[in-house]
This record gives sequence, C-alpha cells and structure tokens, in this order.
Amino acid sequence: MKIAIIGAGISGLSIAKRLSEKNKDFVIDVYEAAAKSGGRISSFDWRLQNKSIFSCDNGQHFTIGAYTDFIDLLNKCDALKYWSRHSFEWNLQRLQGDELQELLRFKIKYLALFKKKLVPYIKFIKSPTKLFFLKFYFSLFLLKKKHFNGHSLNHLYKNVFFSNTTINLFWKAFVENSMNTEFENSDLSILSFLVNECIKDIPNSLEILIPEADYYSCAIKPIERNLQQNGINFHFNSLVERIHPDKKIKCRGMLSHSYDSIFLAVPGHIAAKIWKKSGYPTTKESFLWENQKYRHILNMWIVLPSVQVGNNSNKKEKSFLWNPVEFKGSFYVVVIQKKTNQLNMMSIIRSACNSMTLGKEEENLYEFAQKFLNKQYSVDLKHLDHKLIRAKRATIACTHDQRNRSAIWSGTRTGIKDIYKCSDEASFNYPSTIEGAVKSGYFAAENIKRFD
Ligand SMILES: Cc1cc2nc3c(=O)[nH]c(=O)nc-3n(C[C@H](O)[C@H](O)[C@H](O)COP(=O)(O)OP(=O)(O)OC[C@H]3O[C@@H](n4cnc5c(N)ncnc54)[C@H](O)[C@@H]3O)c2cc1C
Repeated sequence: MKIAIIGAGISGLSIAKRLSEKNKDFVIDVYEAAAKSGGRISSFDWRLQNKSIFSCDNGQHFTIGAYTDFIDLLNKCDALKYWSRHSFEWNLQRLQGDELQELLRFKIKYLALFKKKLVPYIKFIKSPTKLFFLKFYFSLFLLKKKHFNGHSLNHLYKNVFFSNTTINLFWKAFVENSMNTEFENSDLSILSFLVNECIKDIPNSLEILIPEADYYSCAIKPIERNLQQNGINFHFNSLVERIHPDKKIKCRGMLSHSYDSIFLAVPGHIAAKIWKKSGYPTTKESFLWENQKYRHILNMWIVLPSVQVGNNSNKKEKSFLWNPVEFKGSFYVVVIQKKTNQLNMMSIIRSACNSMTLGKEEENLYEFAQKFLNKQYSVDLKHLDHKLIRAKRATIACTHDQRNRSAIWSGTRTGIKDIYKCSDEASFNYPSTIEGAVKSGYFAAENIKRFD
C-alpha cells in the first residue's frame, strides 16, 4: 500500500509513526514544504551579537504531563532522555494576605456537593497552584449542573464564582494561554474538557516537561530519525501544489506515482488552498477549513547575561515558574530558562491576538519588555540580543459563539474517499496543542483499515 503524507509537522510525523507500527510493508512518503520537519515546533539558527549561533525554538512551547500521547511518542523514539520533569508553579508569590485567601477560598455551601469527588485528590494538594486547579475543576462541575454550557467564561465566572481579583490574576492568563482564545470569548465546555484532561492524573499531569535544548533537536529530529530507520521516505523542500484525481501528487512541477491513500497533515487554511487548487468539490469538511477562526501569538526571545539573572535562575532547578504579568489590560507570560549552553533565555509570550489589534499588541509588548527588564535587571532591551516572533494563525480559536462542535474541529475525514486530514484542529474537543496534533495523527491513521 502506498501512502503519502503532506506535511511533516508533529501531526504528520505521528501518522507516519502509527502507520509504520501497524504495517511494516506500507510504503510511506512524507512531503514537506520546508527544509526540515517540525512545522510550528521547528527551530531557527539565531546569530547572536557575539557571533555564536543559537538554535532557538520558533515559539516558546510548553509540554505538560497530561500530554500522554506526545510523551509516549518521545519515549518510543528514544527522545525522552532529553527531557526533564519539573513541578509547575503559578506565580502566586506576589499575592498578599487577603488576595491569596480569596484566590483559594471555596464557597462552603457548595463543598458538600463535590465532597466525594474531592477526597481522592486531597492527598495530592501540596501547593496553592494545585488547590487552585481543584477549585477550578469543581467549579466547572457545578457550572455544568447549572447548565451554563455554551456561555462565555467571562459571564459565568463574574456572576457565579470568582471575584475580579481571581479573574484578573488567574483566569485571563490561563485561558488565553491554554486555548489561544481571548478570555471574553472562550468556550466553557472546551475549557472544562481541557481541565479534565489536566487533572486526570494529578500531580503527574500538571508537571511540566522541559527539553535540555530546543524542541527541534529534542523531539522532532529524534522522531524523524526513528521514522527514517523504519523506512519512511522524507521529501523536504517539496511544497505540494495539488492532488490529482488519480491520487498523484503535484510537487515541484512534477507528478508522483499514484497513491492508495493521502493524508493532509496541514492546518485547515492550508488544506483549503490545496483542496481548491486540486479542483475537488466543496465538502462540508473543506468548507469548515476555509472558515475556521484563528488567533496569533507574539513571542519575544531575549538573551539575558547570566549576571543579570542572579538568583532567579536557581528557582528553575526545582520548579518551573510560570509568571503572568498584566500590562495595559493584556497578559504577558514571562519565562526564564537556563539552556545547557549556559544561555539565560527569557521569553515573553502574548497569546490570543487577533488581526485587528496585532500591530498595537506588538508595540505594547516592546514597551512591556523594556519596562520589565529595566525594573528587574536595570538593563535596556536594546543592549541585549532579542527577537520578536510573530506566529500568525498560530492555532484555531475556541470561541463560545461557535455552538456547533463541528464548526470548530474538522475531524479526520475530507468527504473524498482515501484522502484524510489531520492537524491540531482535527481532534474533537482538544484545543490546538502538540497533544491534539499527535492524537489527530493517531485518529487519522485509524482510517486505514487494511492492516495485516
Ligand atoms: C508560537 C506558538 C506557540 C505555541 N505554544 C504551544 C504550547 O505551548 N503548547 C502546545 O501544546 N502547543 C503550542 N502551540 C501549538 C503547536 O505548535 C501546534 O498545535 C502543533 O505544532 C501543530 O502541528 P501540526 O502538525 O498540526 O501542524 P504544523 O506544525 O503547522 O505542520 C504542518 C506542516 O506542513 C507543512 N506544509 C504546509 N503546506 C504544505 C504543502 N503545501 N506541502 C507540503 N508541506 C506543507 C508545513 O511546512 C509544516 O511543516 C504553539 C504554536 C505556536 C505557533
């Protein structure tokens, strides 16, 4: 059986892995437009002022313990050895007295309702972060009972459970970063699903996995190597223009042989373009790809001289500090990581940007970075190596106005026989994440029934 996979992002690599496990005799060709695999989790060579080259992630990525399929994939490809597990801490330290109390307080009258559910988790509660997640989970449980699904989070949390302080200090940053959708418009049921995934296996699920270098060398490259050892053929710099009706692929002006099955392992907006050029009729799936809503992510990388970091970097040895800071009404997540080559990398992330405000968001991010560096380290941004990455259409948005589930996720069918789809927007209920992308690859592979 001859199979073509279009796209060597993490979803494309996942289908390749799953298919090669099922049947060693499949002939699998992967076509990738770029010079290397990885797609949105690839890396670039950054030439620093001191002329050294640093391999830097395209954007700051987070992998949590709840990403079981991704972690399993790393394990199968002998890549888990490059990763370490850290406990995950929300930066609650700047909260004082009443503020902290309020953040952690449960409404007692509701406690009886979920006492039974709470008990198994009590023993794991060691930090305010975990207790807060539990409060979050059980609030969702209550909200569901009250049939509030389909409403925006803002509406619910303002009116039912959480104070403004809590919303501002936790919800906005958490929701915007986990769903890449602005807080005001995020869908509750999707968030509820996400939190369920996160707390299934507390505390493991809430731990954070950090690669010793960039994601490309610690995840993508080892997976690609494993696939090549299993006979999978990679064609880089091979942008697929169209698929012919006889299932040949047009690439670099040439036509391939016919394939039995083809997987579009690309995000919906790219699948829609290939679809149109191929002259296929509009199906309900291709209509969806054209109309999915996206959001952008801004990510600034800054190299901090080690002397500037001082004691802050030591914290990383034990736990991973996720530090959301509010500035001009937006949340910026600031992360400092010491890399194996001794570079102290700071990333400032602004998620959930839309096209209308992107320019303004960029200006604000520069201003925030400048002020933050001045305040924390008395150093000027212009004296440090820094780079702003604009990840346009970083992921789809999970907004509450898209009531019908199939208006958000594409699933793995395309409406045309033997052509399938995957990517981080194909797995129902999963916000666009690495885990969602890996799962979509696995689901898509299940469409091939002819296993020996
Ligand atoms: C800045 C940023 C930060 C993020 N942070 C996180 C995070 O913290 N945690 C998390 O879980 N997720 C995060 N994500 C999301 C995560 O990166 C994606 O969900 C995941 O990488 C998607 O993988 P994919 O294979 O579905 O798509 P892609 O990575 O987009 O892969 C598609 C591949 O197809 C190739 N391609 C496109 N067109 C063609 C063509 N015509 N022919 C051949 N090949 C083609 C592309 O070059 C690409 O390699 C982030 C994303 C961004 C952009």
